[in-house]
Parts: sequence; C-alpha cells; structure tokens
Amino acid sequence: MQILESGEVHDVIVIGSGASGGMAAYNLTQKGVKVLMLDAGGKFERTKFWTHAVPFEADERLRHGEKPPPFFLDKTEQPYLTPEGKPFNLMRVWGIGGKTNVWGRVSLRMSDLDFGAAERDGWGIPWPIRYADIAPYYDKVEQFIGVCGGDDNSDVLPGSKYYMPVPPPRCGEVFIRKSAESLGIPVVPIRRANITRPHRGFPACHYCGNCGAGCDTASCFNSADHLIPFALETGNLEIRSRAVVARILTDDRGRASGVQYFDRDSGAERQVRGRVIVLGASAMDSTRILLNSKSDIFPNGIGNGSDQIGRNFTEQQMVHVRGYLPQLFGSGYQNSDGIGGGHYYIPRFNHRSKQDYLRGFGIQMWNTGSGTTGERVAHDVPGFGADLKAAVKERYPALLSLHPFGEILPRPENRITVDDSRTDRYGVPLMKVSVSFGDNETKMRRHMYDTAEEILEKAGAEVVPFDRDACDDPGSAIHEHSTCRMGVDPKQSALNAFNRMHEVENLFVVDGSAFTNASEKNPTLTILALSWRASDYIAEEMRTGNI
Ligand SMILES: Cc1cc2nc3c(=O)[nH]c(=O)nc-3n(C[C@H](O)[C@H](O)[C@H](O)COP(=O)(O)OP(=O)(O)OC[C@H]3O[C@@H](n4cnc5c(N)ncnc54)[C@H](O)[C@@H]3O)c2cc1C
Ligand code: SF4
Repeated sequence: MQILESGEVHDVIVIGSGASGGMAAYNLTQKGVKVLMLDAGGKFERTKFWTHAVPFEADERLRHGEKPPPFFLDKTEQPYLTPEGKPFNLMRVWGIGGKTNVWGRVSLRMSDLDFGAAERDGWGIPWPIRYADIAPYYDKVEQFIGVCGGDDNSDVLPGSKYYMPVPPPRCGEVFIRKSAESLGIPVVPIRRANITRPHRGFPACHYCGNCGAGCDTASCFNSADHLIPFALETGNLEIRSRAVVARILTDDRGRASGVQYFDRDSGAERQVRGRVIVLGASAMDSTRILLNSKSDIFPNGIGNGSDQIGRNFTEQQMVHVRGYLPQLFGSGYQNSDGIGGGHYYIPRFNHRSKQDYLRGFGIQMWNTGSGTTGERVAHDVPGFGADLKAAVKERYPALLSLHPFGEILPRPENRITVDDSRTDRYGVPLMKVSVSFGDNETKMRRHMYDTAEEILEKAGAEVVPFDRDACDDPGSAIHEHSTCRMGVDPKQSALNAFNRMHEVENLFVVDGSAFTNASEKNPTLTILALSWRASDYIAEEMRTGNI
C-alpha cells in the first residue's frame, strides 16, 4: 500500500545521518532551515557499547549470549550482487551516525596534488574545485569536530593551526620513524578526530584505545553525538528512523519532488515531499537510490543522462606487512595507552621520484606496539600449550605493523548497476558491484610491499613472510567514491562544484560518491567539508529563492 503524506512540502529532506547527511542537517538547521531526515536505522544505545570489554571478557560475554550493538548491516537483510570471481567487501552501518559510530577517525586534508591529479597525469577528469576552495571548510570542520595532529605541513598533507595535542608515539612507532627517516621517508604525527582535551561539552579522550567498538564518552567524532543532537536542539530537525529510502521522485519538469521510502519494520511504503533533497546515504547506497529513481524523463536513473552515475568507482587498495623487533622481545608493556589506531603516519612520498605507475600511497601503522593487538601474535607463532603462551607473551610487545593505502584509478567499467530482476524485501532492485584492480594497481602494490618491507627490515625487524600478490578484496578500505562524481563537464560528471546535480537543480549528493577521484587519503574530513560547503550553498540558494 502506498501512503502519500499530507500535502506538506518539507524545506529540505536529508537522506542519511552519517558524516555527510549529519553535517548537512546540522548546518541547515543552524541556519533556520526546516529539515526532515530519513535514515534506514535507529540510534545505537551508548550504554550498550562494549568500549571497555577486554578480549577475554568479550569472549565470555558472547558465550553467555550477550551481543555488542549490531553496528554492521547484516548482508542477508540487504544483499548485493557481485559477478563471479569479482568479490567486493561492502561494509554498511545503517543507523544514526552511520559509519562514524565505528570509523578509524584518520582525518587527512587532501591537497592540490589530489585535486589536480587528472591535469597532471591525464587520467580521469579534473575536480571542479581546488584546495583554496575547500581550505576554509577544513578549518571549520577541524575546529568543530576536534582533530589531534602535529605541526607538520606539506604539499602532500596540508597542515592546520587548529589541531589538538597528539599523543606521543608508541614504542614500535619510534623504531619505524627512525627507520623510515633513515630511508628519506618522512613520518608525521597522525591526525585523528579524537578530542585530546575537553571540547564542546565532551570530555577528553581517556586513551583506552578501543574506538572501533564505539566510544562510550563520545570523545571522538561521531555524527550521532556531535552533529545530530545539536541539529535537534534548534527545533528545526525531524528524524524518521528505520526509513529505508528506495527512490527520489520527480515531477513533470524533471525536478526532485520527494522521496519514496519503506518502513523497515512494517515494510509499508511511504512518500514525502520536499523542496530540496540532499542525498547522503554513503556512496554505494546513494548510487543505488539514484539508479533506481527511474522515470520517463530519467530512464537510466535520476540525473543520469550522462550515464556517469555508478561508473568510475574509486577507493584505495590495502596491503599489510608485519614483523617483530628482537630488541623488544620479552620487554613487557610499553607506553601502549593511546587513541585507537596508530599515533604516527607515513604520508605519500612516491611522487618525489619517478615511478612506473600513477598516483600514490600513504602508510598507516595500526597494531604497532604492545597493547594494541594480541590475537595476531598467536597466529604468527608455531606450537601450542605453555610454550605457545610463553612465545606469544615474549613477542607481544615487539609487533610492528604497516598498512599502505594506495589510490585506485577511476575506470568506467568499475561500476555499480541495479538489477531489476533481483529485489530486496521491499521489491527494490539490488545493487550489483563490479570492481577489479588493474595493471596500475599491481605496479603500485609492488612498491607498497617493497617500501613496507624495507622499513621493517631497516628497523631490524623479523618480517613475517607474506604473499606479494595478496591484496584485500575491493571494498575493504571502506572508502567508496566517485560513482556520482563532480566535474565541470556535464557529459562526464553528474554533479557541479557545489554537489548539485547538473540535471536536477534541487537535488544534491554530499557523500563520497561526489569525489572526482579517491586520492590515497581517508575521505571523511573531506566529505564533512564538502557537505558543509554544499549546505551553505543550499541555504543561500533557498534564501534568495533560486531553489
Ligand atoms: C571500520 C571503519 C573504519 C573507518 N576508518 C576511517 C578513517 O580512519 N578515516 C576516514 O576518513 N574514514 C574512515 N571510514 C569511513 C567513514 O566512516 C566514512 O567515510 C563516512 O562515515 C562516510 O560518511 P557518509 O555520510 O557518506 O556515510 P555513512 O557514515 O555510512 O552514513 C550513511 C547513512 O545513510 C543511511 N542510509 C544508508 N542507506 C539508506 C537508505 N537506503 N535509506 C535511508 N538511509 C540510508 C545509513 O543509515 C547511515 O546513517 C571508516 C569506516 C569504517 C566502517
Ligand atoms: S581511545 Fe579515546 S576516543 Fe577512543 S574509545 Fe577510548 S576514550 Fe573514546
């Protein structure tokens, strides 16, 4: 049964409450715009987070039938299709705050090396913006969400004067830094959205290091804590939870007129009307919604006259190399407290010399130093019983771990489509994801492995044998982009420089699908900055009556 709401036309309908939708709703409501937010999930209850459940306790609790909050969407509830032999690892969080409930918080500014990549190497299309366009928004976002970082600043990784103090390096990171720097590879303090001093009423991080389980003191940025409550406080935000959006509706002029969604509990179909629609359901789900929004005017999906929507998927490939430092065998706990993930980072450096591939990679170092992992060590040590326990204990403080992230080039054939013959529980066509890595990625991967191995060996570590052809499945970086990309040319892109659809003037897409290319950097800081910028633009266009 279809239920069309009373004639009410909402000022703005925002779809999704994660980084992108949360920021748009926050900014618009601060400016007095009335927003209806539709989100496929509900709020995860903070009191139920397992932030401080140590591994043995977590095992015990699981055995007793307890469960941590089900952050990740069950793939059987919302399946997606992949072609034979092309796996894709899609991680979705359907709930208030989206993936920011559990994200890694690495917050890196993109630079003109990224925004100008296509002009420099001729691959893909140019971004319609440059660093100067987004820098003021990076400033605003960092001051608002709280990011810790150092005082480094480079053409690869622009710095900021707004960082909070960054925690000192862990023991293993000191060794990695020394080794990398002796090879001419700079190492800088990480930039993470952990608040290391009290900020906007939230307490400082207490360095328990388990942010991936959800922070029980909200001491790292999560849209559910840091954006949505403040938007609600204005009185301008209405949230409909467990509203699974299927399609954007259009009027006979080709403008977006509303949204069709399904109640996740009853399955009932509903429709709501809006003057402006802002889509922030994360790259993959937004793309599915756009492609499913077919009409006489838009037979290939709304705003898809260029056939660009769904194409040119980009992200990063990830590999992992680890080793053990004999100097640290049996040394007991070191200064292992800190924020979840590494305290140091190796920014892209490969462009400083000639390579046989395009674009670049940066290296993260989570799981380095005692206290940051445990189970991995047991997998690396042979044996069983008391001897195994002793060996694990000896090596536990000595683990060094490097995780290079390398940019995937945009290619039209790496794409999302929808399959009309396969539908979900609401009868909505499923998405099909077809992504594979190419020759450029293979060449870059060799350099990623060589570099990580060289740094560990130079540090004196015993490198754990690894398969040089191995790579995490596409999707594993959880940084999906470019399937509704920005650009100057409407034939090659779907959005303009303010995230507005070229073909639909009152429809904006503010998540990672808007990126023209990925870069090697984690995207959320840029998503937040672009969404803030786009929503400033929307509010102004609405004020002046242009939309
Ligand atoms: C484990 C992990 C580690 C990560 N680490 C980092 C990191 O260190 N740095 C970094 O920059 N990024 C990281 N990310 C990625 C980061 O979380 C995302 O880039 C960011 O959350 C994207 O914001 P978004 O608004 O596009 O999507 P999301 O945050 O996923 O929000 C999407 C929202 O849309 C809703 N939604 C989805 N489909 C529908 C629908 N059909 N109808 C209605 N609502 C819908 C969801 O409920 C959700 O609220 C990580 C992610 C994960 C999971
Ligand atoms: S390390 Fe800090 S931000 Fe992370 S869960 Fe612990 S208190 Fe929260």
